[in-house]
Amino acid sequence: HRGPALRERLRAVHAAFAKPLELAQRRPAVERALAQLAPLLAPDFALEALATPVSVLPGIGPRRAELLAKRGLRSVGDLLFHLPSGYDDRRDLASVADLEVGRRATFVARVLGCGFGTWRGGRGRGGRMFEAVVGDDTGTVNLKWFRGGEAIQKLVRKDALLLVTGDVKRYRFSKELQHPEVEAIDPDGPAQAEDRPTVVPVYPNFDGLHPRALRRAIRAALLDYADLVAGQLPDAIVRQRGLPSPADALRALHAPDRDADVAALQQRSSKAHQRLILEELFLLELGLALRKSRQAQVPGPPLRCDGPRVDAAVAGLPFQLTGAQCRCWKEIAGDLSRPHPMSRLLEGDVGSGKTVIAFLAAVAAAESGHQTALMAPTELLAEQHHRTLTGLSGREHLRIELLTASQSRTHGEAVRAGLLSGSVDCVVGTHALLQEGVVFRSLGLVVVDEQHRFGVRQRAALSDKSEHGAPHTLVMTATPIPRTLSMTLYGDLDLSVIDELPPGRKPARTVLVRSGEGRQVADLLRETTARGEQVYVVYPLVEESEKSDLRAATESAERIRAAFPDLAVDLVHGRLDASARAKAMARFESGETDVLVSTTVVEVGVDVANATLMIVEHAERFGLAQLHQLRGRIGRGDRPGTCVLVARGVTEGSEARLAAMLETTDGFAIAEADLRIRGPGEFLGTRQSGRLIDLRVADLLRDVKLLA
Ligand code: ADP
Ligand code: MG
Repeated sequence: HRGPALRERLRAVHAAFAKPLELAQRRPAVERALAQLAPLLAPDFALEALATPVSVLPGIGPRRAELLAKRGLRSVGDLLFHLPSGYDDRRDLASVADLEVGRRATFVARVLGCGFGTWRGGRGRGGRMFEAVVGDDTGTVNLKWFRGGEAIQKLVRKDALLLVTGDVKRYRFSKELQHPEVEAIDPDGPAQAEDRPTVVPVYPNFDGLHPRALRRAIRAALLDYADLVAGQLPDAIVRQRGLPSPADALRALHAPDRDADVAALQQRSSKAHQRLILEELFLLELGLALRKSRQAQVPGPPLRCDGPRVDAAVAGLPFQLTGAQCRCWKEIAGDLSRPHPMSRLLEGDVGSGKTVIAFLAAVAAAESGHQTALMAPTELLAEQHHRTLTGLSGREHLRIELLTASQSRTHGEAVRAGLLSGSVDCVVGTHALLQEGVVFRSLGLVVVDEQHRFGVRQRAALSDKSEHGAPHTLVMTATPIPRTLSMTLYGDLDLSVIDELPPGRKPARTVLVRSGEGRQVADLLRETTARGEQVYVVYPLVEESEKSDLRAATESAERIRAAFPDLAVDLVHGRLDASARAKAMARFESGETDVLVSTTVVEVGVDVANATLMIVEHAERFGLAQLHQLRGRIGRGDRPGTCVLVARGVTEGSEARLAAMLETTDGFAIAEADLRIRGPGEFLGTRQSGRLIDLRVADLLRDVKLLA
């Protein structure tokens, strides 16, 4: 039934119906006929019709079509989903005397006088304008148009009765409205007043396109095309929530009834909104579920997770796994042992112990004769992971190597050769692992740490490196992603959550210090080091001002050395070569140095239990997630930690971030706050959000409940 000939006929049927529909819309027989026709039209026809360019709509010529295209509104379907940002409630007509300065109002008034005048602004600006004095029984008010007076002139004539909507402003001793929307009221047509829209949709402002023109185009689109918008939501949900059809929802939003619940419309909580939001979220989740099910059918290497090497690795751990770690490991082991690739997100707050889980998975891979690649976002973090894993493995479990860009060529070549021959079980590195020339004998597992910095594409590139089917993928994130976001962004990943910190951890105390209160910080530093505990001092490193930031950190190290001559102070930053950095980190880990001054390099992953004081300089310049990460570096042992946030100025949003840090130590609460402060796009970085969340109606934050 999809032959071109039939489609042509359906097109003709639709065209024939489209016009009479306007007149006959309320006749039940026509509605029934249309309902029967609808399935015939769907789906190809409907999709094609909705893709019709906006220029078919009345009043939309090439110039306006171009304006719309600039906002991404190219097709009739785009325009239908261009929802109002608010509503003018014109049921409540004001009288002229009651107009309030600073408020938007709608009123009926008669034109008492009008004509062109001139206006003068400062600095010699000025020009022609069209103005009118209008009034009702209670008073008069001025209307002004600085541009386009010619067009308005036809409507605003002496004695004409107008419906005026706009923002009321003060002008000297009277009130005025600039560029109000006006509609002529025919005094002889009482019936027309009934038909006049009384709850009028307001669309986001368009330069160069009059609101009335946009409304007219959208109304035309509604009439001819809304019924073609198909709903995908399961009937059960639609019935249970009493939702309107998508077409009725669009009508309710673009052309509300006289008795519409305007408050619900304004808050986007109406049934009509719900329907469109649920449609969108449903399709999004469905797409992710499909992707996930496709992934689950690809062959992958089954890994043995209960063999002697894994058992020995568990037994050899210097601590008992927490309940949450046990549960997560069981979930991961279940996935790994299947002959299909795992795609799992391991989510857990800073310090919850994710690394050890990755370690066990790597041992399982090695035990089954496969290799593991662990990718970290920075060289320093890769170095840290390499040290940690090597420490955990004690050699007999895993042969682990580090591969980063700043290592010597000969070392890099040796590691590559080992990966090719299979003599290396596990390689830790940065993006360098994605380079060509890194060939694995049998890549079985990919671990990605700090997911939010890696794009989906990079993950995919690494997965491609296996010739034995797709490898298992474990994504670890130390920045907890709000549940709503992980459900959408990582809906193609299964989720394991470590929701419990190792025993004995005490949340860090957080102190906010303004510049000029340096004494307090110096005292804390003295007390801490006197107890034999260690201190981090962290400086932000922003690319644009890399040099001056580096200087600030260097000077700070000098100042501390001068003020505390008996303390060992070290400086670490990204400009140091890998071995110098590794040496400095090793000195700090062994307790040789008391104070480690650094640029953001300790941000993630550094693990020194004896460090109990974290001083964050220019805390206002760090993002919330970063601050939380930094704070997570201290209080890892049994002694409580203190985090000092030194604010040296106030930037946009920084007060909100600092307040959130003082308020809670819960990573999930912090992540939610971060999302609230920055919005999803910023939160995820433009690259990811651009590709992954392109929602027309839904809002991941606002619509949490509907999404669930
Ligand atoms: P993150 O989840 O932030 O990556 P890590 O894996 O770095 O956390 O672990 C943080 C610290 O907690 C490490 O010192 C690690 O050895 C320790 N740790 C991990 N699991 C446990 C546990 N079950 N009991 C005690 N300490 C643990
Ligand atoms: Mg970690």
